[in-house]
Amino acid sequence: MKAIVTLNAGSSSIKFALYELSADGLRFDAGGKIEEIGTAPRLRARNAQGDVILQRNWPQGNAISHEHLLEDLFAWAATQLGDREIIAIGHRVVHGGAEFAAPRRIDDALLEVLEALIPLAPLHQPHNLAAVRALRALAPHLPQIACFDTAFHHELSALATRLPLPRAFHDKGVRRYGFHGLSYEHIAGQLRAADPERLGGRVIAAHLGNGASLCAMREGRNIDTTMGFTALDGLMMGTRSGALDPGVVLHLQMQLGLAAQEVETLLYKKSGLLGVSGLSSDMRTLHASDAPEAAEAIDLFVRQAARQTAALIPALGGLDGLVFTAGIGENDPVIRARICESLSWTGLSLDTEANQRNANVISAKQSRILVRVIPTDEEAVIAHHVVQLIRPTGSNFQ
Ligand code: ADP
Repeated sequence: MKAIVTLNAGSSSIKFALYELSADGLRFDAGGKIEEIGTAPRLRARNAQGDVILQRNWPQGNAISHEHLLEDLFAWAATQLGDREIIAIGHRVVHGGAEFAAPRRIDDALLEVLEALIPLAPLHQPHNLAAVRALRALAPHLPQIACFDTAFHHELSALATRLPLPRAFHDKGVRRYGFHGLSYEHIAGQLRAADPERLGGRVIAAHLGNGASLCAMREGRNIDTTMGFTALDGLMMGTRSGALDPGVVLHLQMQLGLAAQEVETLLYKKSGLLGVSGLSSDMRTLHASDAPEAAEAIDLFVRQAARQTAALIPALGGLDGLVFTAGIGENDPVIRARICESLSWTGLSLDTEANQRNANVISAKQSRILVRVIPTDEEAVIAHHVVQLIRPTGSNFQ
């Protein structure tokens, strides 16, 4: 029996999953996350039934490198395999630039191209690629596949990719790319399954996690999205500012004397919920706090999300569906209710009880807009892409 591993390596976390591949297709076997890398790394993995099958804390946590953690993770995966053999590893790679509309097998040449994109995704891309390198060292002959968050957005119209700058900059790659594509691909697939004829009609999907963005889709086609040139654009996030008057960036550098690097750190790591609350980037912590700054951070998050959702409606020519996904989108009835309340003028109304229990459909019967909660599954999307890419035509694995 064959197996596939997926990895989503970030700065402070590594998400992983193990899939079994047989003639029947892919089956999730186990997966989890190493969190708080750099401070006190801890790992938790669950099996397909949701039972915790592994928990681990590393002593002297802050001294443990990503490479070391990946090595430990790989050693654990080996014990988990039984008679199964890992045949490929799929990676989430945030930026695939203008070139890659589909997953690619990683070789030296591709790595070089992806390294050149690091300045466009400084928070994610270096860690994505470091994981690739670490696994190449551990298992040099294992095929590694890059699945890009930008790829889903390749079907955006030329207009949706353009920034209002002189044309020469667009030609140099200064354009809108869009991110969270693996998550939106999963959502699009779920909508296809739920409504094969219309794929939900005119839908806005809201990926609200540590990173947050919106994607407008019309009958399955990607129309527009809130993240643009980098994953800083659009919604206010856990630590990222989201869309900002570009004059602020100039002011920070020219009047307040911040170096470019300091501005980068400010906008990627110290802004958003963390910056406004002065407390935390974590929505649960903010809900639990009595501090007025925490309440203001939540208010601003909701206002930005509702405002940018409404701003996507003209490109769709109306709205039939709204989908919530990712950590906040899937689990936070308060935030969902508040965003929906701000959009009630569209004819949207929630079923309070369904919303409270994170049901699949949370809109009221009379609502003009169908509101769904769809758990995202970027790992499954990666695993399916890996199979597509490595499967010899006409074969089935066993
Ligand atoms: P990432 O982008 O790291 O994958 P997630 O999708 O896990 O992020 O989302 C993390 C966010 O989701 C955090 O702000 C966290 O507080 C929030 N979250 C997770 N579970 C809940 C919950 N039960 N209620 C409210 N917020 C939650």
